Amino acid sequence: MKDLQNKQVIITGAARGIGLAIAGKFGLAGAAVHIIDLQEDAVKNAELQLQSQGYKVKGHIADVTNSDQIETIFKNIAEEYQNIDILINNAGITRDGLVMKMKESDWDAVINVNLKGTFICTQKVCRYMLRQKQGVIINIASVIGIMGNAGQSNYAASKGGIIAFTKSVAKEFASRNIRVNAVAPGFIETEMTRILPQEIIEKYAQAIPLKRMGSAQDVADACLFLASDYSAYITGQTIHVDGGLIM
Ligand code: NAP
Repeated sequence: MKDLQNKQVIITGAARGIGLAIAGKFGLAGAAVHIIDLQEDAVKNAELQLQSQGYKVKGHIADVTNSDQIETIFKNIAEEYQNIDILINNAGITRDGLVMKMKESDWDAVINVNLKGTFICTQKVCRYMLRQKQGVIINIASVIGIMGNAGQSNYAASKGGIIAFTKSVAKEFASRNIRVNAVAPGFIETEMTRILPQEIIEKYAQAIPLKRMGSAQDVADACLFLASDYSAYITGQTIHVDGGLIM
């Protein structure tokens, strides 16, 4: 799969940020892109934006924690387009707070969307990929899932969980020609990080060997590599896209 022409790719949380950049990158590579996100307006805007660039894109409204919604969307895609070739589990949220003060609802929300959402989409897509005897799953983790971060214990646990989940599923599916890998972005310029004060952003950038925040395109490039046959002998791995922050 060096050429993604007409490959069906599903990307969750793709109405904005990193997911939208991944959708654009895969659209440019010729894939038929299905974006899944929560808000109807945001999905419509993303769909129109990508279609205006000439890409094959279809928007779907769903919550990744709702297994019925996800099952229905995947079934419809498989019926209409025969295959589901690539799944990118990108939808993610933060609800930061020190562990002593963290509300259980904030713990549950982050674990549910980031970790359980990844499980649900993987479980629902694998029926099609197992039947096809081919497929690629890419899970968006985070450097925080490797190094931890004060005030983000829920997020770190969810992302560390995604890395462990990735390895387990890679082992389950390898014999069926389904590769499962994770991408661990570092500090990427998106809405999620734009809310941080400028001095904090500069402090972070100084700690990064490549001396800059990453872009959503940097993450999308790693996903394109992992989705293509250029990574045909890579499974169960976590690719760090962090400017050398962790090495
Ligand atoms: P973002 O700008 O907040 O975009 C996330 C998208 O996911 C939003 O459109 C959001 O919808 C959607 N979403 C949230 N909950 C969902 C659900 N239950 N079902 C379906 N869609 C849902 O985030 P981002 O910065 O692009 O991050 C994308 C991924 O990269 C996340 O997994 C994040 O943890 C990871 N990451 C980001 C960074 C970074 O520096 N930005 C670093 C490391 C890892 P709403 O807008 O309606 O909430």
